[in-house]
Amino acid sequence: MKFTKRQLLSTIAGLTAITIASCSGQAPDSTSSETDSATPSDTAAEMDGELNLYSSRHYDTDNALYQGFTSKTGIEINLIEGEADELISRMQSEGENSPADVLVTVDASRLWRAEEEGLFQSVESETLKSAVPENLRHPDGLWFGLTQRARVIVYNKDTVDPSELSTYEDLADSQWEGRVCIRSSSNIYNQSLLGSMVESIGVDATEEWAKGLVSNFAREPEGGDTDQIKAVAAGQCDVAIANHYYWARLAKSEDATEQEIADQVGVFFPNQEGRGTHVNISGAGVLENAPNPENAIAFLEYLTTPEAQEIFAKGNNEYPVVEEVSVDDVVSDMGDFKVDTVNVSTYGYNNSEVLQISDRAGWK
Ligand code: FE
Repeated sequence: MKFTKRQLLSTIAGLTAITIASCSGQAPDSTSSETDSATPSDTAAEMDGELNLYSSRHYDTDNALYQGFTSKTGIEINLIEGEADELISRMQSEGENSPADVLVTVDASRLWRAEEEGLFQSVESETLKSAVPENLRHPDGLWFGLTQRARVIVYNKDTVDPSELSTYEDLADSQWEGRVCIRSSSNIYNQSLLGSMVESIGVDATEEWAKGLVSNFAREPEGGDTDQIKAVAAGQCDVAIANHYYWARLAKSEDATEQEIADQVGVFFPNQEGRGTHVNISGAGVLENAPNPENAIAFLEYLTTPEAQEIFAKGNNEYPVVEEVSVDDVVSDMGDFKVDTVNVSTYGYNNSEVLQISDRAGWK
């Protein structure tokens, strides 16, 4: 049985659809997935000149971007927001009738999950190739990085001198016994970090590291990255691993308590003398069954323009992928750092190995 695009959009349950042109510009909490809701059937355009975007990003600033694209191209965006795994299952069940043109999500290992399901098509675009550095995109053009996030070491300024810090590997040293906080190994950010280590130092060394790290835990893994930063500030642990933008978010907070937490905690970019600090991406790809593939490619190309990059990256205090685009002040104050340029697509390819390593290391 065949569905029209309108019928398919109308069947989307549990996900939120917004037509950008009529969006109220509500600012959802950046850690939640609450969004304005609209009836999907109200928003489904049926003609050319549209783009159906599935996104797991929920930043208010993204709406300004989408409006920018529409006013530049006349292509209207129908936005479906949801959690990444929900969107992936949604597209699997929609199959070849899926109305989705583009998937935007965070973390290369999540893009890999969608890739594994055969959801993306290969895109040949000189604009994208020259705008996005090679390490930040899929080698066959299945998806492209749009922003970068660094997985940094945060430390308590009262108990740790930054001169004591050096590498991720060093956190497995016995000097850090009982002093390390990090979230669960089921978290995709940690899985990608381990995937990058498997690529750079091999399975055995990564496993040895994971075992050493676990033996240095100050507590069982709990909470998200912000919780690790708070635990460091509160003295429950001396060091933690977290994405840089969680610290930036606390530093920019209007809540004095959160600012104090950020003040108490320093940010350190590890592995500067060696391969560089691990970065991940938020990124996007054109879907295999995209009804509007040309619009989809035009949209990705638009997202790599300097003005779009600036808005896209600042929405979550991230780094643009395009050079010479400015970052938020709080992010530039963190300083420059050397990036580990291992290709981000390797994180997903190493994922099954990573799950076994975490299991054997007893990392919950
Ligand atoms: Fe995050």
